[in-house]
Formats: sequence, C-alpha cells, structure tokens
Amino acid sequence: MSMQNPFINAMAQLDKVAKINNLDKEFVSKLRQPDREIIVSIPVRMDDGSLRIFEGYRVEYNNTLGPYKGGIRYHPNTEINEVKALSFWMTLKCAVIGIPMGGGKGGITVDPKLLSSTELESLSRGWVRKFSDILGPYKDVPAPDVNTTAEIMAWMADEYGKITSDKTGAVITGKPVGKGGSLGRDTATAQGGFYAFEALKKDLKLGEKCKIVVQGFGNAGANAALIWGKAGHTIIAVSDSKGGVFDPKGLDILKLLAFKEKTGSVSGFSGSKDITNEELLELDCDLLIPAALENTITPDNVDNIKAKVILELANGPITSSADEVLFKKGIPVVPDILANSGGVAVSYFEWVQNLKGEHWTEKEVFDKLRPMMELSASEILNKSKKLKTDLRMGAFILALDRIKAKM
Ligand code: NAD
Repeated sequence: MSMQNPFINAMAQLDKVAKINNLDKEFVSKLRQPDREIIVSIPVRMDDGSLRIFEGYRVEYNNTLGPYKGGIRYHPNTEINEVKALSFWMTLKCAVIGIPMGGGKGGITVDPKLLSSTELESLSRGWVRKFSDILGPYKDVPAPDVNTTAEIMAWMADEYGKITSDKTGAVITGKPVGKGGSLGRDTATAQGGFYAFEALKKDLKLGEKCKIVVQGFGNAGANAALIWGKAGHTIIAVSDSKGGVFDPKGLDILKLLAFKEKTGSVSGFSGSKDITNEELLELDCDLLIPAALENTITPDNVDNIKAKVILELANGPITSSADEVLFKKGIPVVPDILANSGGVAVSYFEWVQNLKGEHWTEKEVFDKLRPMMELSASEILNKSKKLKTDLRMGAFILALDRIKAKM
C-alpha cells in the first residue's frame, strides 16, 4: 500500500491548491520543506540476548500555529517519506480544526506484533531517549498512530519525565485515562468524523439510513463502525490487513469485535462472506470509509469505485490523480484533514487538561468537539463552493489562509 511515495502525493496536492488559490510563491516554497527531519538508530536488547537496531523518525514540519503535534507510527513499511507526508498533513489538519498546534509526525520501521511486551517497551523508551531534546510540552507533542497504543504513550511519557523531571505529562497525548489521558480520546477520531458527516450529509445528498463500508478495523475503523452503526446506519462490510467480511443485511459490530479479539482477524466471521480488501473498496454503498493506510484508492482501482461518498478517516488514502477522477465522476470526498481531525482536537484537549491540572468529563470533551467539527465542515463547504472545487481543496485553502495569516 505504501509503495507510492506519499510525500509526492502531498506535494501534488499543494501544487494543485497553489494554482487554484493563486498562492504566494515564497509561502509555497516554505511549505515544501519540513523545518527538520531526523532519523535515528534505536538499539534494543531482545529477549533472546541478541541486539537489534531499529530505525526511528521524527519530522517537525511547521510550528507557525503552535508546538509540533502528530502521532508515532510503528509499521514495517514506515519510512521517512511517509512520516514527512503525514507531518505535512498534520500541519494543515491542526489549522483546519482551529487548534494552536503545528504539524509533526514520528515513526519506527517495525512490525510490533513480532515483539514481546518487554521489547516493545524498550524500543518505545529508546525512541524517546533519542528525541528527548526536541520534544516538550511547548515544543513537540507526539501522540498515537497506527499500531501505537495508550500503553506505549504511558511508557513514553514516563521516560520523558525521567529524563527531564517534567511532571505534567503534557509532552505526549493519547495516554491511558488513569495516567493523564483524556476521556473520549480513544473514540475521538471516529466521533469527529461522524460529526463532520452529520454536518455535511444534506449537501452530500445522503439519506438518513446509509449503507456503509469501512476499510481498517483498528482505532479509527472499528470505532467508526460502532458509531455509524449505533446511529442506525447499516455496516455492510469491514476489513483488516488480513481481509474483509461482507453481509448486505448488516454486520453485528460488537460481535465482530469479540470475534477479532479471539481470532486476530475479521475474516471467517460467521454469517458473512469473506472478501478481499480490493473487493471491499469496490462495493456498492452510500459511504466508503477508508480507515487503514495511505494509497488505497489509486488510478488502478478508482474507476471501479461505486460508493456515493468517501470519508477519509485514514490519512492520505486517495492519491492525487485518483482524487481528480473522483471529482470528475461526482463522488465527493470528505478529506482526511477535516474527517479525522477529531483525534488531534481531543489530543489538544488532553494537553490543555495536563497543563491546567484539569479533568474534563466525556460529555465536556464531545460538547467542545462537535461545534468545532461543524464549524470547520461548513467553512470548508463554503470555500469549495465559492471556488468551484472539491472539499479537499476547500480544506487546504482554509488551513493555508490561517497559517499564512500568522506567519
Ligand atoms: P490501528 O493500528 O488502530 O488500525 C489500523 C487498521 O488497519 C487495523 O485494523 C489493520 O489491520 C488495518 N490495516 C492495515 N493494513 C491494511 C490493509 N493493507 N488493508 C486493510 N486494512 C489494513 O490504526 P488507527 O489509529 O486506526 O489508524 C488508521 C488510520 O487512521 C491511519 O491512516 C491513521 O493515520 C489515521 N488516523 C488515526 C487517528 C487516531 O486517533 N488513531 C487519528 C487520525 C488519523
């Protein structure tokens, strides 16, 4: 999936918006480079006594609006260009949702499923030791991403505290609730996506009861399936890295979660039909929610997409050229930098609570999130209508205007 260089895709998006909105050349050239990108080696003593060296990354893209903010990804295909692209999108995402944060991202090339818990902990602490100089509540604040959990964030916050004596925990978000985490952070990405969907549903010409397909069944995808399902929509298919399941009558998501917990995959769920991830993307549905990795809808499969609308909970799931095709076909895309920005918004709430020593209820968290998502959604819709472009370009323009104003 990550074969195509996602940073090239990100820069193609920037070039496109520069043309549409006639952006200042110096501003665009500033945005074509991260402030800094760092690659480190992280030695880990494995359980069998051997030493393994892992490659770790942090890219600090832009901090015009506030401290660098962005998750850490653990994946065998993670490499510097992916981290760079993700940190560029984080810069725009924080601007779109209107929080005082800049953009960053981190990662390690690793398949965490092949490590023991001790090895994973020492790798995670090792990442923090390598970056402790550049991290900090007012400098650079990481968070979870693909394959990184609340427990990993707790190890990282603890390691940073040991090195610097910082007791606020505000250096990292997505921590467990008992260790300074915010209520609602675990479901925030999907919940925010749902608020954006609700705000745009009429304009997207979607009915009250939609047929939904979700690719990816982790933090973003599984919570999306639960939230849309609870709201009365029918989840006809979901998938994970091992494959997908399809039931036109609707999947029971709670049962499917329990099944995946037991077997490690959604494949083979009783009463449903096993399908491939390729087939899943091409199903006839009202709303397709990519919630796995980047580059899933490409020129190779875009002509077969039958969804009426796509909402990107994953970052960068649609390549720039496939995006053009979807626009011409009249399939609207709710772009990642709006659709999944609920995650970073609640990360920001966690940071504020840590620094002020406060604890908000889940209701307070979502009562704050909802109007932010609705406002950004309507501003993006207005921009895109005014400039006769798609929602992605509307979102880019909104974000870039905000960054430019502060720069
Ligand atoms: P996760 O690790 O919890 O889940 C990822 C899911 O994708 C897993 O179910 C995995 O099996 C599946 N997957 C991996 N490769 C796949 C493939 N080739 N085909 C189909 N499914 C595949 O990660 P997550 O946090 O849910 O992140 C998913 C996406 O959402 C990423 O693009 C991430 O950047 C984005 N995102 C997440 C958050 C968040 O708060 N977790 C916030 C914003 C954006």
